[in-house]
Amino acid sequence: MQGTFLFLGTGGSAGIPVITCKCAVCQSRSQLNKRYRPSALITVGKKAFVIDVGPDFRDQALHFNIDHLDGVLLTHTHYDHIGGLDEWRVFYFKHKIRLPTLASIDTYDELRNRFHYLFKTKQSDGTLQSQLDFHILEEDFGKVKFQGLNLEYVSYFQANMKVTGFRFGELAYISDIREYEDKVVDSLQGVKTLVISALRYMPSEVHFSIEEAIAFSRKVGAKRTFFTHIAHDLEHDETNQKLPNDMRLAHDGLELKFNL
Ligand SMILES: [Zn+2]
Ligand SMILES: [Zn+2]
Repeated sequence: MQGTFLFLGTGGSAGIPVITCKCAVCQSRSQLNKRYRPSALITVGKKAFVIDVGPDFRDQALHFNIDHLDGVLLTHTHYDHIGGLDEWRVFYFKHKIRLPTLASIDTYDELRNRFHYLFKTKQSDGTLQSQLDFHILEEDFGKVKFQGLNLEYVSYFQANMKVTGFRFGELAYISDIREYEDKVVDSLQGVKTLVISALRYMPSEVHFSIEEAIAFSRKVGAKRTFFTHIAHDLEHDETNQKLPNDMRLAHDGLELKFNL
């Protein structure tokens, strides 16, 4: 079975252009240097799933014509990944279904605090319920069938934040990774298309640099690698010319096919 992976956003936490920034990348006219906050749409058959719902979600949904969703997968609760959570209400009000949402227990607990009002919507029978139908991953590693989509998940860290990465057959989405155990690499063996976060050339305390992301990809043995979560330090075409042949910066709107 084949799936489609569409990059809805490939920018870092500030997106590109960065507010107030006058650097060459932020002022570039190339569409390839305009990046929404990181997110992706996975389509398998008629089913559509979004990974993360950052602060640009409304724009992304309009721009890429997302008119229905079968589920949402969350990596972690930094603002650039969940800032658009309120925008989900449209799907709730329009379709009258509680959107299935896959998240770790850490993510769930944090969201309940920060978006407490979304967890107390009055139902027709008078009870209070969450607008989201949470499917909680109790373990750090495992396999799960989520709304008909078979996937595997792994856990790693970004500073003190636990982050969930996802594998869909031959494609894996590993964003916001800094510290990880070998089990993550072991779980990704056989992945042909790796999507991995790489902020810039300079090392960062919370993100892989390009060089670290290349090294990670080599350990996994991916056939092709796409970098996402990109800061304004990286000009799209210039950076791509310097990368190994099997690796590229992703860009918003880039679509990949993969086998499940
Ligand atoms: Zn992030
Ligand atoms: Zn800039």
